[in-house]
Amino acid sequence: MRKYVIIGAIGSGKGTQSGLLARDLDIVHISVGDIFRWHVKNHTKLGAQVRRIMAAGDLVGDDLAESVVRERLDQHDWNYGFVVDGFPRSRRQTEFFLESYDIDGVIHLDLPDEEVRRRVLGRRLCSRCGMDYNLIADRPTEEGRCDVCGGELVTREDDTEDALAGRLRDYHGKTDPILELFGRKEYVVTVDARPGIDEVQRTLREKLRLPLP
Ligand code: AMP
Repeated sequence: MRKYVIIGAIGSGKGTQSGLLARDLDIVHISVGDIFRWHVKNHTKLGAQVRRIMAAGDLVGDDLAESVVRERLDQHDWNYGFVVDGFPRSRRQTEFFLESYDIDGVIHLDLPDEEVRRRVLGRRLCSRCGMDYNLIADRPTEEGRCDVCGGELVTREDDTEDALAGRLRDYHGKTDPILELFGRKEYVVTVDARPGIDEVQRTLREKLRLPLP
């Protein structure tokens, strides 16, 4: 049984790296943000409670976030373990997690703010079909046009310099104490998130003493 938490700033590759880990180790990838998005999309009662908060880019209350995580993990469909992405995001959530679950490691994907800025500000989205592009790694063939449907590529509303500076400040303010709390229990492995996807995954496995991909 392997139980992990993954922490990293936006654009650090959390989703990609946990997806690879989950696929190869046959563990379940639990993204708390995805669970909330599912509720919003499907108009559930919970969705109605969190819709506005999420749209404003704020954090949902600890009680709600904790109950979503508890409920998800209570399903016990994770025979070989799990990797939780997007939780904990506050001191209280961390304490809840430490009290409730025995975890094997916290993966901290470390990306300098400068690189977060470069990655996030380079993101583009097709206004017609929603396909994602990145002007650094994943450029469209024709500038400003979607390869799939020819739609116009636009910047996401919250991917602006100002919004990003606020999100980064918020991220460090909340994450540093979480890492410190986990670190006291010697759970944290910090991985440099700057190299390519495969190299980051390899380093992460080495540090967690897992079989290499
Ligand atoms: P994410 O995709 O992880 O960025 O999450 C999207 C949104 O879901 C966040 O902006 C929050 O509104 C909410 N959310 C996700 N995880 C948490 C959490 N652990 N605590 C509170 N709110 C959360």
